[in-house]
Amino acid sequence: MIRTRFAPSPTGFLHVGGARTALFSWAYARRHAGSFILRVEDTDLARSTPQAVQAILDGMNWLGLDYDEGPFYQTQRMSRYRVVIEQMLAAGSAYRCYMGAEELDQLRETQRAQGLKPRYDGRWRPEPDKVLPTPPAAVPAVVRFRNPAAGVVAWDDLVKGRIEIANSELDDLVIARADGSPTYNFCVVVDDWDMGITHVIRGDDHVNNTPRQINILRALGAQVPLYAHLSMILGDDGQKLSKRHGAVSVMQYDEAGYLPAAVCNYLARLGWSHGDDEVFSMQQFCQWFDLDHITPSAAQFNSEKLNWLNAHYLRRTDTARLLALVGPRLAARGVTVTAEPSLAAIIELHRERVTNLNELADVAEVFYRDLQPKAELLAKHLSSETLPMLREFAAGLAGISWEAAAIGALIKQCVARHGLKMPRLAMPLRVLLTGLEQTPSVDALIAVFPRSVVIERLARAERVAVSPGSPV
Ligand code: GLU
Repeated sequence: MIRTRFAPSPTGFLHVGGARTALFSWAYARRHAGSFILRVEDTDLARSTPQAVQAILDGMNWLGLDYDEGPFYQTQRMSRYRVVIEQMLAAGSAYRCYMGAEELDQLRETQRAQGLKPRYDGRWRPEPDKVLPTPPAAVPAVVRFRNPAAGVVAWDDLVKGRIEIANSELDDLVIARADGSPTYNFCVVVDDWDMGITHVIRGDDHVNNTPRQINILRALGAQVPLYAHLSMILGDDGQKLSKRHGAVSVMQYDEAGYLPAAVCNYLARLGWSHGDDEVFSMQQFCQWFDLDHITPSAAQFNSEKLNWLNAHYLRRTDTARLLALVGPRLAARGVTVTAEPSLAAIIELHRERVTNLNELADVAEVFYRDLQPKAELLAKHLSSETLPMLREFAAGLAGISWEAAAIGALIKQCVARHGLKMPRLAMPLRVLLTGLEQTPSVDALIAVFPRSVVIERLARAERVAVSPGSPV
């Protein structure tokens, strides 16, 4: 039974790197009909906030990453960590160290002065035949893990291959502070053990913790999970992904109008591949996902590709769903959506032309708000040549059936009668109706508006003509 976990520290947002880690852990569990566990590593009380916890839950929910167990909170497991510490003390795999902070600083200083790497010198570490000093009364003890002194700790990382670290490189790690609180690596170990985690999939910023965690797991007689350390994600510019690159939080993609399906699909390809497949559903991903096809090299973010995927998913999303997604965006802008023109019709007309939901809301807004076309656009497209043609067109609108074909026919008639080319009428129509030069096919565009609104907006041409340059 495969058991994976996502173990974020709630100190900020769910960022792209964290979301990818969560996605891969989730998909691996799903692929193997295992369990995916959410664990909130909130022991850093100074940095963890309830808002950050909520941001993680929101982000996972938005991406559709459902978990089978949890969320477990480390702050609620303190008594369990204390029990394990006592067990380790009793078993001799941990010991109390009475070295005060000052003493430790002094030691480090001396080591540095001698050109040595600063490290704990093991003075309170019990050894056969070693006589330990008498514990000082005034110094509260920390608890240190008795790291194996010799040999190597090694694991076959499922992404990076074999990694070996000499135990001589590893200090006796403090697992409980002087106030009794357990330290980060220790909590992770106890949790991975208690939660029966079989595969630890996480960012490679944790590679340095792994040998320590494995040693503690072994000392506890726990099964050591398999580890897959994911390489970092670089920004578009090849630098480590950071705030500079724009979206730091997954929810910013929501704000920016991306669909979760597109973001998930995009994240899935950040460091993992299935042949040349670029577009796939999460269902498909869960059937394909494996750890063998994760690249050990850094993945590079590509905003253009994300936009392309988002456009693709927008085209595939049914109108009812898009209505539910665009409606609130318009409401948030203070736009009242009325029955006429129909938002569904507006969406259908534009969905092939936009890359995100905000762009869709932008074009929809034009239909419900009487946006003033820019004077320079009016000046550019309205002339003494086009005005009579526009008038004729506007007058003709009253007598035709309200559908794109009839409107198109009227446009053709007018341009033919004036011996002009199609854009000479289409462009002023676009600008007068929407304030935009680029719109879908103008006959279809007009058909989406109620007839009365079109007539009203076209009447602006008269006002421009009466006093050129003045606001319409
Ligand atoms: N809490 C750690 C983090 O947010 C992850 C720990 C782990 O996955 O082992 O980076």
